[in-house]
Order: sequence, then C-alpha cells, then structure tokens
Amino acid sequence: MNLTDHTSAQIDATVAAAAAAADTWAASSAATRAALLRGLAEALEAARDTLVPLADRESHLGPARLNGELDRTAFQLRGFATRVEAGDPFAHTDDPAVAGAPPAGHPALLRVRQPLGPVAMFSASNFPFAFSVLGGDTASALAAGCPVIVKGHPAHPALTRATAALAAGVVQAQGLPAGVFGLVEGAAVAVGVHLVQHPAIAAVAFTGSFRGGAALQAVANARPRPIPFFGELGSINPVVARPAVLAAQGPALATTLAGSITLSCGQFCTSPGVIVLLDDPASDRFVDALAAALGDARPHAMLTPGMRANFDAGVARWAATPGVQWRVAPGAPGTGGDAPTPALAVTTAATFIATPALHDEVFGPAALVVRAASTDEAAAVLQAIGGSLTVTLWGADTDDADSRALVRAAMQTAGRVLFSGVPTGVAVTAGQQHGGPWPSSTRAETTSVGWAAMDRFLRPVALQDAPAWLQGLGGQPC
Ligand code: NAP
Repeated sequence: MNLTDHTSAQIDATVAAAAAAADTWAASSAATRAALLRGLAEALEAARDTLVPLADRESHLGPARLNGELDRTAFQLRGFATRVEAGDPFAHTDDPAVAGAPPAGHPALLRVRQPLGPVAMFSASNFPFAFSVLGGDTASALAAGCPVIVKGHPAHPALTRATAALAAGVVQAQGLPAGVFGLVEGAAVAVGVHLVQHPAIAAVAFTGSFRGGAALQAVANARPRPIPFFGELGSINPVVARPAVLAAQGPALATTLAGSITLSCGQFCTSPGVIVLLDDPASDRFVDALAAALGDARPHAMLTPGMRANFDAGVARWAATPGVQWRVAPGAPGTGGDAPTPALAVTTAATFIATPALHDEVFGPAALVVRAASTDEAAAVLQAIGGSLTVTLWGADTDDADSRALVRAAMQTAGRVLFSGVPTGVAVTAGQQHGGPWPSSTRAETTSVGWAAMDRFLRPVALQDAPAWLQGLGGQPC
C-alpha cells in the first residue's frame, strides 16, 4: 500500500479534535471508559479474519504469532477496563486538616490525579497489534482519561488504517467525541516531528529504535513547553549463566536460549543479545550446544528491508571488532526480502567492557557470548551495559556472595530480572515492569506493559481545602 504523508494541516486538525475531546474524556466515568476499552477488544476480535492476514502480508510474522498477539492485545484492553472499574485512575489520598501550628498542623489536602491530555502514540513495526494502533500505550492512555493520536508505523500501513477505522467506528457507535481516537500517518520523519511539536500534545508514548526515540525525545524537550516522553527503546537483554546450572541442564538451556534468540527472527525488544558465561568447561560445552542449535535454526524474513540492512550492518560491526570471533558466522548480507541466518560471536569481558559499540542492540537473530573470568567481571559486564529491559540470571538460587553480587548488578541494570526461562514474552499484569535505565527506555521509573502503565498519563494535583462537591467526586476529574 502506498503511504501518503499527512500534511501539517491534517495533523493539526487531528490534534485539534483530540484537544476538543480532552475535557470530556478526562471527566468520563469508569463505566464509559471500560465500555470503550471492551468495545475495542470485541471489534478487534470480530475483525480477526481480516486483520491477521493483512498483518501477515505486511510483517511476515505468521498467523500463529499474529493470532496470539491479537489475543494479547484484546486481553490487555479488557484488563485495563477492569482496572478502571476497580478505580485505579481515580485513586486519591485524602489527608484531612490537622489543627495547630505547622509543620504538624496543616490544611486539608486531597491528592488526586489529572489526565495529562492528548497523547501522541508512536507504533513500533515489530508488534503490529500489541505495540501498534490498539496496543498497550493506547489502551493505558485511554484508561487514564487521555485522548490518543496514533502515529502509524509505515511498515504496516494497511493494517494500521484498518485497525484505526475499526477504533473510530467503536468511538462513534458509543456516542463519544471523535477526537478521543485519531490517526496520523506518513513515512517521513517530519510527520512525527510535527505531531510532537504541536502545542496541544501533552505527552508522547514511543516504542521503537534508540535512534528514533532519542531524536523524538530531543524534539519533545526542545518545545517551548517540554512534555513527558515515555520512550521504550532497544535493549540487549543479557543472560548470565553460572557453571553449575549449565553442568546440570546445559543442553536443554541451549535449546531454549536458541529458540528465544531466533523467535520472530530475533525481532523482539526482549531478545537475548548478550550471553555472559564464566570460564569453565560447562560453559564451553554450553557454547557448543548453543552454536549447534543456532546453526540448525531457520528464521523467517525480517519485517522490512531496512531492518535487514541494519542487522547486516550490526553483525558486520561485530566482525570488524578486534577480539570478536564467530562461532556461527552470519550469512551473506540480504538483498531484499530474504531471511537472515542466525549468528553467534564470542569475546572476552575485557573487550566487551572496553568497546561501547558492542553494547548496542543488533536487532535480529544474533547473540554475543561474553566470557568472564570471575563473578566480579560478569557483574562489570552488566554495569558496562548500563541499561536493559531485562537481565536473566541462571543459577542464583543459593544465597551466597556471588548470587548477591549478580542480583545487585542485574537490578541496577534492568527493569525486569528473571531467574528462570528466557526474556522473550512479557506478561501483561500488575507486577510487570517493562522499562529499564537508559538506553532501554527514557523513563526507567515507569512501565509500558502492565496495569501500572496507566500511571504515566496521570499527573498528581493536591487540592487544598477543596469544597465538599469536589471532594465528593472521589478522585474523578470534573
Ligand atoms: P523505529 O524505526 O524507531 O520506528 C518507530 C516510530 O518512530 C515510527 O513511527 C517511526 O516513523 C518513528 N521514527 C523513527 N525515527 C524517527 C525520527 N528520527 N524522527 C521522527 N520519527 C521517527 O522502530 P521500529 O523499527 O518500528 O522498531 C524496532 C525497534 O523497536 C527495536 O530497536 C526494538 O528493540 C524496539 N522495540 C522496543 C520495545 C520496547 O518495549 N522497549 C518494543 C518493541 C520494539 P517513521 O518510520 O516514519 O520514521
């Protein structure tokens, strides 16, 4: 499908509609918001037979994965509906007046939360449903009481339009202002930049590359009135495996890890990109088994020729780094829609720590084994990475100094620390934290997955000596 960039005038009109709907949507009841979120989930499911083939044509991700992703997206919309009904966006702190002199004495304070206003939401290419038009950012912003303007991803334009049309239909059928949901599209960065610069946009939710996120964050910060920029960016997701666990379960873990590295052709923000192993014969055997499993894997084509070119450039960067050797060499660079073959490289902790270019995400089916001489050196590798969505620790089950050192380094580095399994697969639930220190996200204190994602779009306001009618609203904006 050809993509026509929306003009500045079209973008302005879409934002104006959102701004016009903002007060109404902020003041909407739990029942109204929940009805919209459930209506969107139902519409998505009802259109499955149209949407999934469309998504498959544009993404190559396959019907099994895409059906599962649609299910997850509908589950997520319904989950936010349930949390709204439970009162999450209206949670407030009622702090009655205390007589007497300050600091002990104070006026009555009611701490409530105000929806930020229209949110610009940038879709990612690698989740055509779950991080796109009706994905987690849209669901959580709507639940919080904010209108959403989606910036569609040019990698799946037909799916984007079909999903947006469906959403607009639900908004209309429920008698809500049309501006509650809007879409802008275009393959030129100017479209997204104009959207972020618009004075009526109150916040940005972004999922995508480090480069794109950093550029748009700079735009958000350069506005006369800067706005929050919630960017979920790339991540290299280290897996640290201690020798004892590899000695006990090495072959099974190698198969599991190879599956995670090549899942959806490695195109997950949580794909394991660095495997940290201590010098030990069990680690050597594990690398052999991992190399064999990766050598047998045959991933499908990547999402776009541009992503394939980035993958080829990423593995070429590894190849050009002194001290990095191939265990499974990548195939020839792509010439279009052809699938890449997996790659596995090996280096030392000293080389990795001293080479910042090795800390960058290589998006696709490739991983770098980093050999460490000690637990301290393994922890130093995590510290050199600095920020990641996840760290996986295999073999930290006993409370000893080494486990503590690794857990400490992992918690300082990542938003989610796993002690079993692999990082691909992010549960949508209350306890989830999806977002880590820079460069994996721009706001490590927030999450873009799970019910707490709603909190990003709610700004606290203290109402001092509020009149009775305002107190009576129970935290709901007026
Ligand atoms: P992308 O190319 O950065 O695209 C994301 C959005 O940003 C698109 O709408 C794109 O629009 C826009 N964009 C990119 N560069 C821009 C710029 N300089 N100025 C203005 N707008 C810009 O990312 P992607 O290729 O879709 O996704 C792959 C990346 O996303 C990977 O790095 C992956 O790890 C990451 N990701 C992260 C998460 C997470 O939760 N942390 C989830 C999924 C994916 P245009 O295409 O029009 O430029």
